[in-house]
Amino acid sequence: MPKRDLYKIEGDKLVRTRRHCPKCGEGTFLAEHKDRITCGHCQYTEFKNKTPKPEAAAKPEAKPKEDKPADA
Ligand SMILES: [Zn+2]
Repeated sequence: MPKRDLYKIEGDKLVRTRRHCPKCGEGTFLAEHKDRITCGHCQYTEFKNKTPKPEAAAKPEAKPKEDKPADA
């Protein structure tokens, strides 16, 4: 495939449209599938997790712990 398809111009920045393999380096791009991305060289696979876990979403923001004495 033409190498220019791996990049796009956003404003004045060159943006990679595809991720490269963390094992093979920047010269090897990952093949994108519906639910995962894979490397054809080393079979590296990374799963897409679009949907956040419900338990994580429902979790309120962590507040700083108050260290008041119990008898205050
Ligand atoms: Zn690889």
